[in-house]
Amino acid sequence: MPRTFLITGGAGFIGSAVVRELIANTDHTVVNIDKLTYAGNLESLASVADSPRYTFIHADICDAQAMRQAFAIHQPDVVMHLAAESHVDRSIDGPLEFIHTNMVGTAVLLEAARSYWKALPQTSSEKAAGFRFHHISTDEVYGDLEGTDDLFTETTPYAPSSPYSASKASSDHLVRAWQRTYGLPTLVTNCSNNYGPYHFPEKLIPLVILNALAGKPLPVYGDGQQIRDWLYVEDHARALIQVATEGRVGETYNIGGHNEQTNLHVVQTICDLLDELVPPADKRSRRELITFVKDRPGHDQRYAIDASKIQRELGWTPQETFETGLRKTVQWYLANEIWWRRVQDGSYQGERLGLS
Ligand code: NAD
Repeated sequence: MPRTFLITGGAGFIGSAVVRELIANTDHTVVNIDKLTYAGNLESLASVADSPRYTFIHADICDAQAMRQAFAIHQPDVVMHLAAESHVDRSIDGPLEFIHTNMVGTAVLLEAARSYWKALPQTSSEKAAGFRFHHISTDEVYGDLEGTDDLFTETTPYAPSSPYSASKASSDHLVRAWQRTYGLPTLVTNCSNNYGPYHFPEKLIPLVILNALAGKPLPVYGDGQQIRDWLYVEDHARALIQVATEGRVGETYNIGGHNEQTNLHVVQTICDLLDELVPPADKRSRRELITFVKDRPGHDQRYAIDASKIQRELGWTPQETFETGLRKTVQWYLANEIWWRRVQDGSYQGERLGLS
């Protein structure tokens, strides 16, 4: 049955993939709430902007009145909460914005959801029984797996290392507390590193693609041996929609790509793909651009996800391997130069003008 999804952070990298998937491949209606920070880009939503099933609200999740109003007007069935400050390096330079958005913002949204849900007729009401609050989080809350063969499971104790992961861990705790204390029907997902189209070029994979195309140095932290488990963003979007609609209330699901790679291997593979798809004029491999830089403080060595629960309970598995997903991603950046040029020169933010 078609439902109304209230998505926060839908102009971001993963949120926009969820919105595009919902509009393109389902009958559901989407209300996207986004503050349009530097990470929000309405140009990532150009393909859905004219859909009668899509509405955009320019608002801050920390604004309690705006959140209450959005619930009252749009009467959502499902909330998918993705809005966050998400870049670890920025959290090291300025942690308070992360505390505010990720913790205070989540609490404000939970309260708006709780008062809306409580006011729904509770008896014989499909709307109240079907309501879900799905909080989207990261595997970084689990900390570091350095020197082990372990995988993060849904019961791995939290041990966040950065202000970003600590703020996300706190928000996960808030969501579980609202479930235990108030009975709010919540779900939490913790996912590994995403990559794919429309990724803001401050993050490793798009940064390396664009620097390599420009012949600029490719910065790699430390010795590049940090291991991450990479998931193609559209696989994540499909998993999230499945959890939001079919997951068991109160549960946590880990989502991962079964793709553990060192950062150095990721960078080298991008160089090789670009050398194949856009052969360099001077015939020198782009690997020569790799430059090792001073490691980030508190840098976790290894993350790896055990995604067997979501596979077992909901039948979800990623469709892309690291090789197919990375090739698609490189090809997307080659074909969508206008999108990333407008991010690089800042003109994508002009979209904010004229929005209330
Ligand atoms: P992103 O930084 O690309 O997008 C975040 C979006 O939230 C932006 O559109 C921004 O404008 C919006 N936003 C920020 N503050 C806001 C506020 N106060 N009110 C309303 N909107 C606000 O992030 P992303 O990579 O798409 O990540 C989305 C979510 O998924 C985050 O919660 C992140 O922690 C989580 N996550 C990300 C990854 C990853 O690899 N990118 C992996 C696992 C989990």
